[in-house]
Amino acid sequence: MNYYNKKYKEIVSGKDLETIIKDRHKEGKDYPVTIYKGGDIASEFMTEQRRWEIVSFVDRKLRSVDEVWIFETDDYYNSWWTQGEIISLMYIKAGNGVKALPKIIVYKFDDENNRMIIEEKNTDEEKSVFIPDMPLELHIEMARYFANADAGRQGNENMKNMRLLRSLGTIFQRIAFWQTKRIQKKYMQSDIMSDIMKDMTFSDYKKSIYSHVYEESFTENRIVTCPNPNCQTDRQQKKMTIKAIKDFANPQVIRDFIQSNSEMNGRRHKDEIEARGFFSISPTVMTNIIKNREWKCPKCGSGKKIKIDDSHYRWWPIRLGQITGPNNVIIEELENWVFEE
Ligand SMILES: [Zn+2]
Repeated sequence: MNYYNKKYKEIVSGKDLETIIKDRHKEGKDYPVTIYKGGDIASEFMTEQRRWEIVSFVDRKLRSVDEVWIFETDDYYNSWWTQGEIISLMYIKAGNGVKALPKIIVYKFDDENNRMIIEEKNTDEEKSVFIPDMPLELHIEMARYFANADAGRQGNENMKNMRLLRSLGTIFQRIAFWQTKRIQKKYMQSDIMSDIMKDMTFSDYKKSIYSHVYEESFTENRIVTCPNPNCQTDRQQKKMTIKAIKDFANPQVIRDFIQSNSEMNGRRHKDEIEARGFFSISPTVMTNIIKNREWKCPKCGSGKKIKIDDSHYRWWPIRLGQITGPNNVIIEELENWVFEE
């Protein structure tokens, strides 16, 4: 897990992070290391659902590795993606216990001695201190996000129904609730979401109906971070630190992270909203941006050219023998725009 900026690249003095990790293992050069470099799995203008899909991919990866390295630069905790990694570790801890966490290795700069040092979080206690607890309410909300974003499980065919339920009365909502419980009992594999659903009450289900994850903007709005390093967005003003993440007795940090597009904090249905340092762009505004082949930051005014890139895809499951996707597709193609270099 690595927010590899230029400053630290110089401190590591040409020695690649991968070599440093391999050097610590007796298998040496054969030790398998996975590093995703900037842009490998993520780009700008992805939908919020796609961002979460990547966080859920990282979550799966974190469950399968022996150790996780955190390259703790001073801006590490400031990135949405790295927050996603820490929050995924919290999610694993909340759902499966501290024993399910991989060994955590923090690689960081020691200001006093002017050199890089390595800190291991090896025992359950060390891991437990480093990775904070996640409150139950947010654990359930995270499960909803993963269930609707993870590539293998996203329930796109169900989102419209959930939105429709908002406009219906309690009786219909109750019927839908019992129906969901029945289907869950019959068909769902055992996983965190189904475990949570087993104990789900009607009041939990009501909360679910109003979860941001079922908003149209979750699947349709595009998220972009201003590439201008001097842009004074919320995120850059409030520097995120490990301390803030550790003050997770203050669940606001996870809540802020989850609410990437600010519909949940009372600014619904704006075309372009700034939330925690990035902008959520509605399809209407996106059409204009594509027409001009340029995105202009609403905060600092700087413009940046965009170009089309390889498409993204969204899976629509077959339900009761019916194709559920738009225009009768199973795999929907999503145009993917990125900043020009
Ligand atoms: Zn800007």
